[in-house]
Amino acid sequence: MTDLRVLPPGTPAALAIRNIRIAWIIALVFVLVTTLWPRLSIGSGESPIDKLIHAAAFGVLAALFVYTRWLRSLWWSLLFMIAVAALDEVLQMIPQLGRSADLDDWGADVVGIAIALAFCMAARPVGAGASRLVGQRRSIAADLLFVQPTAWLHLATVAALGFAAGAPLGVLLDSWFIRKGPQPWQYGFIGGMLGMAVGVHALWEAGVRARVRRAISEHPCLACGASSPLTAPAVADVGTEFSNTPASATNHCTRCGTPRRATDWAPIAPLQASAELGACLLPILLSTVALVVLSVTFITIVTTLRLRSDFVLRIDTWYQMLPADARILGDIATVALIGACGLAACRRRIAARVDQCGASCLGCGFDLRATTPTAIAGTCHECGGGFVRIATATPSTLPERNA
Ligand SMILES: [Zn+2]
Ligand SMILES: [Zn+2]
Repeated sequence: MTDLRVLPPGTPAALAIRNIRIAWIIALVFVLVTTLWPRLSIGSGESPIDKLIHAAAFGVLAALFVYTRWLRSLWWSLLFMIAVAALDEVLQMIPQLGRSADLDDWGADVVGIAIALAFCMAARPVGAGASRLVGQRRSIAADLLFVQPTAWLHLATVAALGFAAGAPLGVLLDSWFIRKGPQPWQYGFIGGMLGMAVGVHALWEAGVRARVRRAISEHPCLACGASSPLTAPAVADVGTEFSNTPASATNHCTRCGTPRRATDWAPIAPLQASAELGACLLPILLSTVALVVLSVTFITIVTTLRLRSDFVLRIDTWYQMLPADARILGDIATVALIGACGLAACRRRIAARVDQCGASCLGCGFDLRATTPTAIAGTCHECGGGFVRIATATPSTLPERNA
């Protein structure tokens, strides 16, 4: 992740982090106020979606916290957020508030935090060469979006619309297929959260891609996002073939001093959809198999050992006594954690293909090894798509960031 000390204040990357921090503090205050407000009935034990709300609120808070970049390690972020959730429950023990601390609520918070951080972990930068570069471009494009208040407004609007569209779908699904929910609110809430996630992700992806396209002509600095004009040709990386060492480091970012390379914003043909799908097939298949095997094993263990083992019986009784939304949350966590592993595997496999960028065209698969590019960026003879050649041996000079 970016070391804040090397980001000069006022650069887009620094402003983006500041905005994310403000958003996190607002979200934290909102969560604390709603959980600690004296005798507020929403989210109390009687609500059928209490545990789901707890998990969703702390999940969003945890995901946002990772991007504040206050803590570098995701594991420390996990511990910190678990502590914040515990503090929230402990504060509810203050008698004047008329609330009560609940271990189950804290458990729901932790499940939400774990799901969010599993996806943050799956979204970490992967690959070494071209895929690392693509990740850096997306990361700085994201920062350039986070700087704009309108981007936040659009995200909030789409989140609300996504919830409004997903909630009725969840209720319909409940009444058509599941018919188990004691109240439609549980699946309504889940549908709303899924609708929100789909809407935010779609808008986000579209925004980042559009920003990357714009940046290709603007050449912002990959480290800080500042777009100072190129005073001299960007570092061309000529010299030894496949070398990433600047032959003449003539152009540096005027704000943060990071060298600017010819490859930074050289056009790269996007990876073919079929290649992307091909890379994802195995992880998707394995995740599905893992989910089925896990469920069958779990049901088998419970049904066969229930009457023979006191321990299993006690666990099963405890599970059956849980409120319906807590059990639903358990199912969601299982699916989400396996899904996050699958997503991480998909991203690693796609990155491995993107890293072959200089050897075979990402757009058409054409063998590029005989193609001499002008610098270390070039154009495919077959489809006209761009490519870059990056030595993977030399580690990038840019700090690692979360996209
Ligand atoms: Zn810079
Ligand atoms: Zn091509």
